[in-house]
Amino acid sequence: MPQKYGHLANQVDDAQSFTCLVCGANPTGWTWGDLHGEGMCIRCGTPYQLLQYEKDQDGVDQRLDAPPKLNIKESWLPVLKRYWEETEAFTGLATIMMSRDYPECVEGKRKFDEWLDEHPDVIPG
Ligand SMILES: [Zn+2]
Repeated sequence: MPQKYGHLANQVDDAQSFTCLVCGANPTGWTWGDLHGEGMCIRCGTPYQLLQYEKDQDGVDQRLDAPPKLNIKESWLPVLKRYWEETEAFTGLATIMMSRDYPECVEGKRKFDEWLDEHPDVIPG
């Protein structure tokens, strides 16, 4: 799948040697969504916050030196793992604004949603 904005998501220091929690790609590649600093695993489409900040004593945002942070609720992790094991399909779950810019995410979300319809028991309460 094509990477948005060149390959810049792969250049985030702390994301370069990260193992995806869903598909196990090591290291995984990244592509951006539209939310600042949010990238997706290029293999399975799981969203992570690659660029993270914390305010210093003056209230100015400072970049955190931190590994990618899962951008979905922890309770969905086993669901995404099972979906990956069964389908090996890209979900494209990052935040997007214009669907025309991310056809692979639209299709990934549609297929994932369809799968959830067939597996209502796995949806976290
Ligand atoms: Zn992955």
